[in-house]
Amino acid sequence: MTQPSDKALVPFVSVDNMMRLIHHVGIEQMLRDLADYVEADFKRWELFDKTPRVASHSDVGVIELMPTSDGEAYGFKYVNGHPKNTSEGLQTVTAFGLLADVYTGYPVLLTEMTMLTALRTAATSAMAAKYLAPKGSDTMAMIGNGAQSEFQTLAMKAIIGLKSVRLYDKDPAATEKCARNLQGLGIEVVSCKTPEEAIEGAQILTTCTADKQYATILTDNMVGSGVHINAIGGDCPGKTELAAGILTRSDVFVEYPPQTRIEGEIQQMPEDFPVTELWEVITGNKPGRNSDRQITLFDSVGFAIEDFSALRYIRDRIKDTDYFIDLDMLADPDDPRDLFGMLQRAKG
Ligand code: NAD
Repeated sequence: MTQPSDKALVPFVSVDNMMRLIHHVGIEQMLRDLADYVEADFKRWELFDKTPRVASHSDVGVIELMPTSDGEAYGFKYVNGHPKNTSEGLQTVTAFGLLADVYTGYPVLLTEMTMLTALRTAATSAMAAKYLAPKGSDTMAMIGNGAQSEFQTLAMKAIIGLKSVRLYDKDPAATEKCARNLQGLGIEVVSCKTPEEAIEGAQILTTCTADKQYATILTDNMVGSGVHINAIGGDCPGKTELAAGILTRSDVFVEYPPQTRIEGEIQQMPEDFPVTELWEVITGNKPGRNSDRQITLFDSVGFAIEDFSALRYIRDRIKDTDYFIDLDMLADPDDPRDLFGMLQRAKG
């Protein structure tokens, strides 16, 4: 059925169209673009509405809503985290998101965000590493070789010039998959049999595992001075990856403290445990890395502003393309008060 031209339609980016868009832009270019959008929004951090995400926990996982607004646009993401899902052939993390115009309240974009979350998480990790990792870092240990791992690796390559990645996963099939996917993408890939082997010679240690428990992916004695830890997988109450001793030896950088204190590695620490907000490093208010021996730790949980940046990017990037379809998801009668009349006229 054709739509009247003045109908309020909402652009929708499906998974297929998102994948077409990523290939059209080029994945490394898109990671750089997303990092630029995230960085621009971190620079205007103070003007955003901010709240810890709204989480609904169950024994097997979590379902979360992540809202924010810059006063002109409003965005939210729906996202789940279910570590047991992969054993049932399902994703641990799936997501979709919406951007709306604050002036009218009308949605202006609905999009898949499973792919987009992997990209924005990786772009944010690499943006943090740009400020916190030792200068010239070229080798990363990647512990946890699941859905996020290739994106994490490629973002570090595209944004800080990573040359070599050392993979470890408790499931060798995950490492094989990750190594296979990274073949021919211009990065040296070394598959390792233990986490200790994976961290050898690495300046950046990324932990990106999924397990609903206080896990110890890195023990205190595995972390030498001068490294940067990019801790991705500890992002829920009762779900962490690092030994507490590492936190006391590190300078810890976070997205939004009220959310990270509930969900991040620092949930293991007292409530007044000192942290630095990443946006303050990016605006130059606070120092990032300031010595060769310092251990820097990005305690990433994923914050709504990063998704808002990603939604803004997609809204801008799909203009004048065919990477979306229009959805009829707003009842918008010609006479705004005649919703009932519109219903009656639609009677067959
Ligand atoms: P996934 O289930 O696809 O992969 C996780 C991998 O971790 C699996 O291959 C599993 O075998 C491995 N693993 C589990 N326990 C391990 C251990 N003890 N040692 C080594 N490997 C282990 O999950 P994913 O989509 O790649 O997500 C990874 C983690 O990142 C999840 O915990 C997810 O919640 C989190 N995440 C965080 C953000 C953020 O913004 N911080 C964003 C997305 C996902």
